[in-house]
Amino acid sequence: MSTLRFKAIQETLNRKPNIIIEDTRRSELFGKNVYNQSTMRQTLTKDAFVSVSNAIEKGAKIERSIADQIASSMKDWALSKGVTHYTHWFQPLTGATAEKHDAFFETIGNGDAIEKFGGSQLVQQEPDASSFPNGGIRNTFEARGYTAWDPTSPAFIYETTLCIPTVFVAYTGEALDYKTPLLRALQVVDSAAVAVCKYFDKNVKKVNASLGWEQEYFLIDSALVASRPDIQLTGRTLLGHSSAKGQQLDDHYFGTIPNRAMAYMRDLEIQCMLLGIPLKTRHNEVAPNQFELAPIYEEANLAVDHNALLMDVMDKIAERHNFKVLFHEKPFEGINGSGKHNNWSLSTDTGVNLLSPGKTPMSNLQFLTFFINTIKAVNDNEELLRAAIASASNDHRLGANEAPPAIMSVFIGDQLTAVLKELEQLTSGKLSPQEKTDLKLNVVGKIPEILLDNTDRNRTSPFAFTGNKFEFRAVGSKANCAKPMTLLNSIVAKQLIDFKIEVDELIEKKDMKKDDAVFNILKEYIKKSKAILFEGNGYGEAWEKEAKKRKLSNNKTTPEALKAKVSKKAINLYEGLGVMNAVEIEARYEIEMEDYIMRLQIEGRVLGDLARNHIVPTAVKYQNILIENVKGLKEIYEKDFKKVAKAQMELLEDISNHIESINVNVVKMTEMRKAANKVTDAFDKATAYCNKVKPLFDTIRYHCDKLELLVDDELWPLTKYRELLFIK
Ligand code: ADP
Ligand code: MG
Repeated sequence: MSTLRFKAIQETLNRKPNIIIEDTRRSELFGKNVYNQSTMRQTLTKDAFVSVSNAIEKGAKIERSIADQIASSMKDWALSKGVTHYTHWFQPLTGATAEKHDAFFETIGNGDAIEKFGGSQLVQQEPDASSFPNGGIRNTFEARGYTAWDPTSPAFIYETTLCIPTVFVAYTGEALDYKTPLLRALQVVDSAAVAVCKYFDKNVKKVNASLGWEQEYFLIDSALVASRPDIQLTGRTLLGHSSAKGQQLDDHYFGTIPNRAMAYMRDLEIQCMLLGIPLKTRHNEVAPNQFELAPIYEEANLAVDHNALLMDVMDKIAERHNFKVLFHEKPFEGINGSGKHNNWSLSTDTGVNLLSPGKTPMSNLQFLTFFINTIKAVNDNEELLRAAIASASNDHRLGANEAPPAIMSVFIGDQLTAVLKELEQLTSGKLSPQEKTDLKLNVVGKIPEILLDNTDRNRTSPFAFTGNKFEFRAVGSKANCAKPMTLLNSIVAKQLIDFKIEVDELIEKKDMKKDDAVFNILKEYIKKSKAILFEGNGYGEAWEKEAKKRKLSNNKTTPEALKAKVSKKAINLYEGLGVMNAVEIEARYEIEMEDYIMRLQIEGRVLGDLARNHIVPTAVKYQNILIENVKGLKEIYEKDFKKVAKAQMELLEDISNHIESINVNVVKMTEMRKAANKVTDAFDKATAYCNKVKPLFDTIRYHCDKLELLVDDELWPLTKYRELLFIK
């Protein structure tokens, strides 16, 4: 066995779980390191507290003198907890989080120093962030970008730094991050939903989008990762024959959590409690070494921040437990990949979940309104939903056998399908008193009962209604939730705005009662949204055919999927809502296309290196052993040696054939890469990588994996799947 592989395995066998003793209740730890409402109430003057509350709830501006007070209280609070630095914490278009720390410490002459933090430092900063991707919005020598405080996401202490969630925008006004468009989308869905709520309840003043994500991940021992350049550099295995035992026995799913993983989870959960991330569930997932965690859902902007923060924290805590967390959507071939379900709903400031059936016919009509409008929004924008979750890594998952397909569809269950059928059959125009009574008694009135025993769940649907929320399941485990959330909230906002216009028109021009108008429009929407509703097996081939008939898009690769982002329709949607302008949209498209290209380029290089410098030399070494063996046999058996050395000689030839194929295809891949690199248009370049370069990965891998089965295990340099995947 190669020394690196041997040492890595040895090291993991000697690991002990790093167990934390917990002597404080989780509820007491919760939010301890967050400058949240209750901390603010304790530390701020009344004026300052009211001002921040207004900023959070109504987006009101905070005056500079008040900002100074807030900054000063924040600083005192942080200093009392041993904090030395502060940072504006943001999410640039790399998808990761970014921070640049500044010390509170400042000199004041005479060799003296103080801790200082004023309103201006809290509210706005200008990081020299010229190296973040900006898709051409901002040349390095032109206007710079600045970060601005987002009071709706509370500041928190991580390690010894006070982190202030911020947006990141260019001086010319364009968003350079994911948070800015998300906040705008949340604002438009809020006002659009409030306007529709007024049909049912005049008291509603605010509607919040909620998000509850479920994060899947793999834990791999850090020594093993160090022995695999592919995992280190690309986050996934580019080579490796599947293990004899994988997930066939279903013995990992919901099984006993391995000791080391458990110790890691507890440590992580404690850290998350302090940071106010309300983690609730943990369990083993389907694949060996795969796990999932989920919090209690929160307001969407906060939930997005918490997920981004969580991924950072997961990485850091993993180091203490000698693990590396793999967020990649498909780290291992042949076993399940990872996703990040985005559970989404809308709720009012009066405490009503608009996607949860209520107790009265009226509240159920409200439920149906939001339910059907969401379905219509997805129906009309399915290709944009696909685009919102497109990435090089998620491509391995979508369309593969175990994950939602690249076709978007909505699952709602038998009972709600029946409800929609009934509504669809209503006569157009004003409803007769009899129809109204029927509706109230038999359709709208029955929904809560129906849902209570609605247990059928379709795990193959990319967008499923699960009782009181929609679950967008096609989101990748590595993704920043801001992208799908910005899209979803925007299309629903647009839909609700259109709905309101149409209903009002019926009320005003056709002299209809409000209920009649609502029913009429919903009925039309049901008819128009049929293509997107699908209750069957989303993984089956039959669905692919059926979806084609329904004219649903099926963009299997990222370049194809991303094209939708810059369509006229997408630009009209975002510009119309004020969520993004054409420049911002184009920039994101360019950046994502570039990201796709870069990832494939890196994978190609790593694979070439592994195949040429690790696998082929090892195979040659083994051939030399075989050759010695054949020579020896020839000496002993002379003329008859061909009979006794038959297997060895065949093996020699097999190995040679694989080596030959590897060499030919690595050369071809390099040529294809060079050709692709010369292409200037981002889409064409990405397409060249996708169609010309990437298919060769599979061919090269195939031959390398075959060699893994032929070559002496003692010589094999790369840690094998069976060694990577079964932690103690
Ligand atoms: P699973 O989908 O694995 O069965 P659950 O349905 O219990 O798990 O919940 C998954 C996630 O959905 C959790 O993060 C939970 O907080 C979130 N969730 C539950 N209700 C809502 C809601 N009304 N809006 C948004 N998210 C929700
Ligand atoms: Mg779920």
